[in-house]
Amino acid sequence: MAKRVLVSGGAGYIGSHVTVELIGAGYEVVVADNMSNCDMTCFEGVKKITGRDDIPFYQIDCCDYEAVTRLFDEQGIDAVIHFAAFKAVGESVAEPIMYYRNNLVSFLNILEAAKNHGGCNVLFSSSATVYGEAEDLPVTEQTPRLPATSPYGNTKQMCEDILRDVVLATAGFGGAGDSDAGVAAGGQGPVKGIALRYFNPIGAHPSALIGELPRGVPNNLVPFITQTAIGKRECLSIFGNDYPTEDGTCLRDYIDIVDLAKAHVAAVSRMIDGRMKEGYEIFNVGTGRPVSVHELVTAFEKVNGLKLNYKFAPRRPGDVVAIWADTSLANEELGWKAERSVEDTLASAWAWEKYLAGK
Ligand code: UDP
Repeated sequence: MAKRVLVSGGAGYIGSHVTVELIGAGYEVVVADNMSNCDMTCFEGVKKITGRDDIPFYQIDCCDYEAVTRLFDEQGIDAVIHFAAFKAVGESVAEPIMYYRNNLVSFLNILEAAKNHGGCNVLFSSSATVYGEAEDLPVTEQTPRLPATSPYGNTKQMCEDILRDVVLATAGFGGAGDSDAGVAAGGQGPVKGIALRYFNPIGAHPSALIGELPRGVPNNLVPFITQTAIGKRECLSIFGNDYPTEDGTCLRDYIDIVDLAKAHVAAVSRMIDGRMKEGYEIFNVGTGRPVSVHELVTAFEKVNGLKLNYKFAPRRPGDVVAIWADTSLANEELGWKAERSVEDTLASAWAWEKYLAGK
């Protein structure tokens, strides 16, 4: 029987792309989302792309333990991919209590339900933000994490540590369905975990039926670019052109959203098929190639044959100069590699913006 994967935050940008790839790989998917930061556009898009009208959808808040545990009771979950979290760095500085409560409690609830339902595989969506301003580039999974510079970043670090600790604490519990006395009382079982550290996910599905749908003024670069190109924003500000890089703008590792989604399928299969080498593993998910902000803007103009209204503006507080991934661990252990070119990705981002404009 097909294994069942719960995608929390599955109606959002990354969650919807992951749902499509999981279904394509033969998994059954259950989506949970409280719809606090999205509408049904992407979930409807997922149904169209996959031709599946029957994907179980739970409009629940993962901060509600009763609701989470009911979902586990009803669905019999083999793995969870946890995206349900707030993600705006600036807002997290202004509203730390809201961020810590939401991002930590929802993950704790997922872990508790996972443990109490005979054990489960849990994939946590972490971020390259945990590396901060790293001295040695590219960063490997062994590069030390630096103290977080925002509550958002701190929740990523804390959730990684919580997952590691829960894996350790439940390691002796035996597995779901074990007939020996290994399974702890009350149907508890071991939690296994993978944290994927994303670099900068961009782009949209080639069908242009799902993509990034920011509420209000986008914080991230690519939605700001596409909204400027379509005329929703007047001018893109490139934050800082006096950084110690070749063209003076920041360097990032922009990873295509479909490539990123495929890394989740590889990681989930590794967990479900029992191929993990440790109970808790971490992988960088990037391309391994640094691209400057100015290069990205120029590539967007070129591939889409348009001129973007942009200007250079002061640095944005909190930005690191440069970060990109060493992806060898994910390449070797997950058998995964980023494949789509940055040009194709930028074309897909533009196709998605135009699709939204025509809706
Ligand atoms: N950036 C920019 N203008 C914008 C948004 C972002 O110049 O309107 C720059 C930002 O300073 C950083 C890069 O684009 O160097 C990527 O920023 P983003 O917010 O997309 O992701 P981050 O790397 O901060 O997670």
